[in-house]
Amino acid sequence: MADYYVNDNIQSNGDHEVHKENCYWLSFVLNKTYLGNHSTCHSAIKEAKKTYPQSNGCYFCSNECHTQ
Ligand SMILES: [Zn+2]
Repeated sequence: MADYYVNDNIQSNGDHEVHKENCYWLSFVLNKTYLGNHSTCHSAIKEAKKTYPQSNGCYFCSNECHTQ
């Protein structure tokens, strides 16, 4: 289980990236929303999509949930 966060700011492609608590890139995220404690990134993405329909897993920490 891990805590997940979604970036409140969009990437250049319009995605809101979802990160695990220990992701290196999360330290650069200025505004984030806590998504809860999840066993996989899939349920974290599902939660993020309630707020931001265009959510995507971080390439580095949630690669299995990352889509192009
Ligand atoms: Zn990440």
